[in-house]
Amino acid sequence: MNEPLRVAVVGSGPAGFYAAGALLAGGAEVDMLERLPTPWGLVRLGVAPDHPKIKSVSRAFEKIAAQDGFRFLGNIEVGRDVRHDELLDLYDAVVYAVGAQTDRRMGIPGEDLPGSWPATEFVAWYNGHPDFQHLHFDLSGKRAVVIGNGNVAVDVARMLALTKEELDPTDTTDPAIDAIANCGIEEIVMVGRRGPAQAAFTTPELIELGELAGADVVVEAAELEGAEPRGTNSERNLEVLREYARREPTGKPRRIVLRFFRSPTAILGDDRVTGIQLVRNVLDEDERAVPTGETETLDCSVVFRSVGYRGVALPGVPFDESRGTIPNEGGRVGDRVYVAGWIKRGPSGVIGTNKKDATETVELLLADASAGLLSPRGPAGDITELLAERDLTCVSYEGWEAIDAVETARGEPQGRPRVKLCTWDELLAAAAGERV
Ligand code: NAP
Repeated sequence: MNEPLRVAVVGSGPAGFYAAGALLAGGAEVDMLERLPTPWGLVRLGVAPDHPKIKSVSRAFEKIAAQDGFRFLGNIEVGRDVRHDELLDLYDAVVYAVGAQTDRRMGIPGEDLPGSWPATEFVAWYNGHPDFQHLHFDLSGKRAVVIGNGNVAVDVARMLALTKEELDPTDTTDPAIDAIANCGIEEIVMVGRRGPAQAAFTTPELIELGELAGADVVVEAAELEGAEPRGTNSERNLEVLREYARREPTGKPRRIVLRFFRSPTAILGDDRVTGIQLVRNVLDEDERAVPTGETETLDCSVVFRSVGYRGVALPGVPFDESRGTIPNEGGRVGDRVYVAGWIKRGPSGVIGTNKKDATETVELLLADASAGLLSPRGPAGDITELLAERDLTCVSYEGWEAIDAVETARGEPQGRPRVKLCTWDELLAAAAGERV
């Protein structure tokens, strides 16, 4: 009998787990390398904490992790601890499912002023990502502006508007709950560069904005005039937006204001954000936003730029700078190198999109293997030997289960799904079975 195929999957988010599931089903052995001590990627650290149902997809990943032939190697960063060429020596194939780890830039003056934040950092902070806990978000001003019309922008606007009662039962970090519940923000303005019909957010997320305990949602009817739906989501969004436009504010302490046809041209302030300049846009025949030259200034103390994520290059692996992805055909990058998820197709789609995406990649990989197209791997033995030689601390799946047990035990008395460990020290200590 042939030896099973040995595959390294780099990254433990949805794309990595769906790839692992398909590989195991195809008879391969999978080592999943993850730079954090914890798995699930954006399911743990991106999905908003008030969306526990979406987070519960991790149950499906747990089942994959429990299968024979699967190993989790946490706290191991490819490019730092292990090189790409070393993985090619150790494995028959490598699947990169590393996601899109940074934010897209807008390229406008003031983008880097204190108080102008990429949404990605705010999201990582309130979700307890250990690399982002030192950040201090000054939410003392009255108005926050969120740039972008995607679901991440909606998440950020909604999180800023949640009350203490809405946040308390979630696994939002305690400092984030304190900061949001006690902030000075009265108005959150979400700004879309195109029209309401072109907005990328999905209808269930839009509906949630109208159901918040502590915030009214405000839409100007004039900005909806003449909007023509662009498909089912757009049609349903427009219906909801029209209903919002008919609402009278009920005097809740905060307001979420949805504005359309406006692009930021500058973030204003001398040593920190004091405002934002917006230009009114019209749409050309291809529905691109074209500035009219008519500008307005909004006072605000904090800006969240939620204009999309972007992939980061890995040493020794090809990278398309313009798209922020690893160039590939159907998931194949080159001999024995494959990709899945956002690093393959760009930061689009919902969690489930990654199942089809990863399956496509793995089918190609397995077909390449059956056809004898994979060049032989190098002579190296097991990765654990190399990790031991380098004295690296690797968090196993049992280590993650120990972290999980500590977190859920901390959450239980408070009626929360978990209280996350948010520092590297705490995470690594819990994984090693030590007292935290
Ligand atoms: P997204 O859906 O691609 O939205 C990005 C937004 O930024 C778009 O409105 C885009 O406008 C705008 N934008 C881009 N460049 C801009 C610029 N220079 N100036 C002004 N606006 C600009 O991305 P995302 O919100 O980061 O979400 C990523 C993916 O995760 C999406 O597929 C999303 O659906 C998914 N997600 C899902 C959920 C959920 O299901 N609850 C939650 C979070 C994220 P244009 O359309 O004009 O380009």
